[in-house]
Amino acid sequence: MNIPLVDLKAQYLSIKSDIDSAIARVISDGNFIKGPYVSEFEDRWAAYSGRKYCVSCANGTDAIEIGLRACGIGEGDEVIVPAHTWISTSEAVTAVGAQVVFADTCPESYNIDPIAVSKLINKATKAIIAVHLYGQPADMDPLVELANRNNLILIEDVAQAHAATYKGKKIGTFGLFATYSFFPGKNLGAYGDAGAIVMDDPNLDRHCRVICDHGQQSKHDHVTEGRNSRLDAIQASVLLAKLPHLEFWTERRIEGARIYDRYLEAINQNNCGDMVLPTRLADRRHVFHLYAVRLRNRDAVLQCLAANGVSAGIHYPKPLPLLKAYERLGHSESDFPVATMVTSQVISLPIYPEISEEQISYVVEKLTLALR
Ligand SMILES: *Cc1c(COP(=O)(O)O)cnc(C)c1O
Repeated sequence: MNIPLVDLKAQYLSIKSDIDSAIARVISDGNFIKGPYVSEFEDRWAAYSGRKYCVSCANGTDAIEIGLRACGIGEGDEVIVPAHTWISTSEAVTAVGAQVVFADTCPESYNIDPIAVSKLINKATKAIIAVHLYGQPADMDPLVELANRNNLILIEDVAQAHAATYKGKKIGTFGLFATYSFFPGKNLGAYGDAGAIVMDDPNLDRHCRVICDHGQQSKHDHVTEGRNSRLDAIQASVLLAKLPHLEFWTERRIEGARIYDRYLEAINQNNCGDMVLPTRLADRRHVFHLYAVRLRNRDAVLQCLAANGVSAGIHYPKPLPLLKAYERLGHSESDFPVATMVTSQVISLPIYPEISEEQISYVVEKLTLALR
């Protein structure tokens, strides 16, 4: 049996006629850039994410960069980001000319550790970016409190956590703004690159819009130099066709994770007993963008899964500050003990809304072979 990490084709086949007609409509209209599909998606996404405004853009990395720029963050400012995340989060900080400051990880949620953050705050600190990694909400109460007490901008990178909640409140509503990626493999994915920034402040909305559109306030009125970052209409129409299914797909992911839990807990009891399953923290809706477990013999397990047609992944193999890209910061493993431990043990098992119990059982069976 071949089981991919993410099965985009299965999802396409389940809504094929909607997608095909949505794309065909854009092509026959010839409205490829800006236009009604893009504004309709922005309205729907603002409403869905529980914010007043949504500015769409080319991808989730741009979304962070544009949001930071619109807040006036730049040279001389420090922005605290998780050591354990995808590089977009820190790249965007560097792209606006600010200084990246990495914080270590919570051992339970694998998200940014508020205690580590509190030790990094100084006069140059301007913002904290929380990432809800794998779909697990970060510790928002302490982060909001830290940001308020120190007069810092709180930003949420929600690229992996569409539809997640924290104490009943939607993730992406806690900070000044939140950013989304609609990369095809995300929980809501386009058929190409796409991203968005959501917020409640009308001035910030206007700022982001101007930056995305070459600094134009209105046609040919360039009040600044911006850039070209936009969601195209074909992607907007794909997202519009998919949005009504997001809730169902999220429930399916959560159900898939429950099935994994059940099988893997049984193995832990009968076998070696030291596989660490994803934590379900109280009052949070973990939306399982990834189902990540920690194992001591990760390489043997990955090899065994691959030999049996199962694609597992590593998200991510190293803490960001230890990559060559951040050599200049001069960090070592002892600066990020938790991120170092997590990144050396974690593997992501296949999960997507369409995964069946039979497929999960096959993945677990092959994983068990390597544990013996
Ligand atoms: C996917 C992702 C992004 C942005 O991705 P794009 O590919 O630029 O859309 C940002 N942050 C995290 C944590 C991500 O996983």
